[in-house]
Amino acid sequence: MWFKAYHAFGHGKSMDTSNYVSSFEAQTCKACGLCVKRCPMEVITLEASDKATNKKGKIAVLQEEACIGCGVCAYKCPTDSITLVERKQRDEPPADIKDYVGRFIKDFTDPLPRRKV
Ligand code: SF4
Ligand code: SF4
Repeated sequence: MWFKAYHAFGHGKSMDTSNYVSSFEAQTCKACGLCVKRCPMEVITLEASDKATNKKGKIAVLQEEACIGCGVCAYKCPTDSITLVERKQRDEPPADIKDYVGRFIKDFTDPLPRRKV
């Protein structure tokens, strides 16, 4: 519910302090679509790929900069094709309430994801 709210209100991560992002293993993905359904941010799609080893010819593809690293997708993947990996660029939690409010406001004035993978 909390993560759904992120997406529903177009939130851009001011309260997200996770320094992880999902990583998908194309070789074992069976394109079942479960992660697509579960992701609260709606940042996973199934796309045709020559890396696919399943009959559908598709793999799960992530829009990395918008992933909040919640792990909801990885938890139920039937083939254990998703792992959380540490981001190269770390993002520290707000230092104080002023910093927090500043980030919160920035999320609504600057809708593009500010995190880099
Ligand atoms: S849940 Fe796992 S197997 Fe299913 S589409 Fe996502 S990554 Fe692929
Ligand atoms: S960790 Fe998985 S479920 Fe969570 S936002 Fe990223 S892709 Fe979506």
